[in-house]
Amino acid sequence: MKHKTAIKPTRVVRINKSKPDLDAINEAARLLRAGELVAFPTETVYGLGANGLNATAIGKIFRAKNRPPDNPLILHVGYKKDIDRYGRDISTAAKKLIRAFWPGPLTVIVMKRKKIPAIVTGGLDTVAVRMPDNKIALSLIRKAGVPVAAPSANVSGKPSPTKAAHVYNDMYGKIELILDGGKTEVGIESTIVDCSVSPPVVLRPGKISRRQIERVIGIVDIYLYNNQSVHIKPKSPGTKYRHYAPDAELVLVEGEPPAIKETIDALIRQYQVQKKRIGILGFFPGHDYTIRKNESHVNLGLHAHTVSRHLFAALRSFDEQGVDMILVEGFPSGGHAIMNRLRKAASEIIIAHS
Ligand code: AMP
Ligand code: MG
Repeated sequence: MKHKTAIKPTRVVRINKSKPDLDAINEAARLLRAGELVAFPTETVYGLGANGLNATAIGKIFRAKNRPPDNPLILHVGYKKDIDRYGRDISTAAKKLIRAFWPGPLTVIVMKRKKIPAIVTGGLDTVAVRMPDNKIALSLIRKAGVPVAAPSANVSGKPSPTKAAHVYNDMYGKIELILDGGKTEVGIESTIVDCSVSPPVVLRPGKISRRQIERVIGIVDIYLYNNQSVHIKPKSPGTKYRHYAPDAELVLVEGEPPAIKETIDALIRQYQVQKKRIGILGFFPGHDYTIRKNESHVNLGLHAHTVSRHLFAALRSFDEQGVDMILVEGFPSGGHAIMNRLRKAASEIIIAHS
């Protein structure tokens, strides 16, 4: 006999991002307080929210995303002063960063207070906190009256969602509600600064750059992730640290623009012989590639903010088209946060030489 597991449909409610509809906010806040999951837009990417003080609700986030339990979550708060409610021993550096960049795409890590369940922080004695710069997110968090733990609303390992349809694809049947507030502006996740150590350390690059941070608090360290350095061997085994990754294989080609072009041209010929369907993600004007009819070439240009905004949607669109191989041009200097995401998404990184 066949067993039918009833999937609970996920509701999607459109909501105006300049003047969020109060009924929708009230309903979403009620669900959060009741220990349910609600996806909502922030200025960076869509978040998958749960009551940050309710360990059972947080457990649902890890299950819905299939997220490893040792990967801690960011608590989203409605006011700057909330840092003292959930963190303690807040350093001067943390206070200065909050004053300069909140609400905004910057997360600070501080010592945690006891009331934060261990499941939020992966058992660490520190907690990550951010105040998002998005009216829908802020009204929801304030209305819920609790800190909202919210990782990106994608299945673990996939590109982060920058529109409600991405969340729907990954989370249908697993969560109660998606607030659809349109496309997110920044497009990549927040900059994370560990302020529980001195000097502070940038753990994840984002829109707010090291230079902007150092203007406010002086010298900081940069944490170099595995798989982030360009000095890794050309073929990276990948899987263990793969993140932000589309279903298709992603080959990232770094180097000087002419060498990138030459290498991608050669790869296109090679994959076409193997009957693989290709998608190309490029940035340089004038780089034209010879591709077949059912293949696509997206050129996002050289402006880091525009590229960030469209990066994850572009990766997801290649999967929607059924592409086998995505060839990506290395983004030139100044695109530290972009290259961080691309290197983690890559199944292979090639350093091109002419
Ligand atoms: P996401 O929610 O998907 O944007 O991921 C949150 C990121 O914040 C992960 O990379 C975590 O490793 C990082 N994070 C959260 N809390 C901490 C913490 N207490 N210490 C270090 N990193 C953290
Ligand atoms: Mg994430």
